[in-house]
Amino acid sequence: MKMKSGSWIEISKSALKKNLRYLKKRLGNGVIFVSVIKGNAYGHGIEDYLPLAEENGINYFAVFDASEAERANNIRHPGSEIIIMGRIDKEELPWAIEQQIAFFIFDIDRLQAAIAIARAMNTKAKIHLEIETGLHRTGIEETELELVIGLIIDNREYLDIIGLCTHLAGAESIANYFRMQEQIANFVRIAQLLESRGIKPRYQHIACSAAALIYPQSILDMARIGIAQYGYWPSMETKMNNLLSNENKFTRDPLHRILSWKSRVMSIKEVAPGNYISYGNSYLTTKKTVIATVPVGYSHGYKRSLSNSGFVLIRGSKANVIGSVNMNVFLVNVTHIPGVQTGDEVVIIGTQGKNKISVAGFSELSNQMNYEVLSRLPASIPRIIIDNGLK
Ligand SMILES: *Cc1c(COP(=O)(O)O)cnc(C)c1O
Repeated sequence: MKMKSGSWIEISKSALKKNLRYLKKRLGNGVIFVSVIKGNAYGHGIEDYLPLAEENGINYFAVFDASEAERANNIRHPGSEIIIMGRIDKEELPWAIEQQIAFFIFDIDRLQAAIAIARAMNTKAKIHLEIETGLHRTGIEETELELVIGLIIDNREYLDIIGLCTHLAGAESIANYFRMQEQIANFVRIAQLLESRGIKPRYQHIACSAAALIYPQSILDMARIGIAQYGYWPSMETKMNNLLSNENKFTRDPLHRILSWKSRVMSIKEVAPGNYISYGNSYLTTKKTVIATVPVGYSHGYKRSLSNSGFVLIRGSKANVIGSVNMNVFLVNVTHIPGVQTGDEVVIIGTQGKNKISVAGFSELSNQMNYEVLSRLPASIPRIIIDNGLK
């Protein structure tokens, strides 16, 4: 494979297909699957991921801000819908309304701005009312409800209320069990109140991945699925809860990581015993050591904290990072792997032979950190779609 970049990210079509099939089954018939592609599609690349999801019948996509919405909007099928869950400036609202991009309304200001602009354009703004139920991040407060109801009733012809929604504060952890119950109950109560006042959004939605997989009662008309579609359990608890449950028990993990990060050996060197490797003095050879240089460094998102602790796969074997991770390269010890050559494939995240490096293993942190490691993968690394089937 010819490329100018020192590493590349592979996205497996077949793994994605399996994940989406499983998750759709878990959501149940008639529930709309909203694919959350914020954070550059959790590092997978919006432009690479969105078309693959569309191929699998997904046609709702949720992003964080207007800039991600623009990227998604540029490549989506005409039938696909985009929802902005977070930031959009007032100056960008006319564009969003004109493009029929939906956005969350989480305060009075934005509601008033949307109405004013839609009225000036003589059209309807597509909105999702996000209500505060206990996350305390964004969301319309109960004290603001009367004002919101009044504004909506007076401006019906300028609003297309697609959704009524809220976001849960940590469905992936059992420690938050009571908080989740309370949030769901608050949501139901407020939805009923709105309905009693004649405001009936087309779809109600609460669930993220963890909620959909642990609290089936949180799956309403739509579910906003992020991490699980990429093949990760939101937490070990979520996985265990499913693994051991009666209805959803599995023997083989139904979620498959769709992303791998790979590079190639750039150079090989033999170092005699008693020498320090790379900058400084963090690794001293005690015997004849063969080192391979991998052209990936902290500028590419390979954390410096993986110095002397990370590992990669080469020729199916584990090779430890030795010495410090540099800006553009790191070194691995391949003394125990026979025949390593320049150009050999290096797996940074993913599988090779019988071995596997998971994102969690890569970060050497908890499973919860999948979100961070993935979304920090630099957008500049080329993404390649593969269709290799599943091992
Ligand atoms: C990120 C996000 C989601 C998706 O969360 P996952 O845990 O990745 O499924 C859903 N809703 C909102 C509002 C979000 O910000």
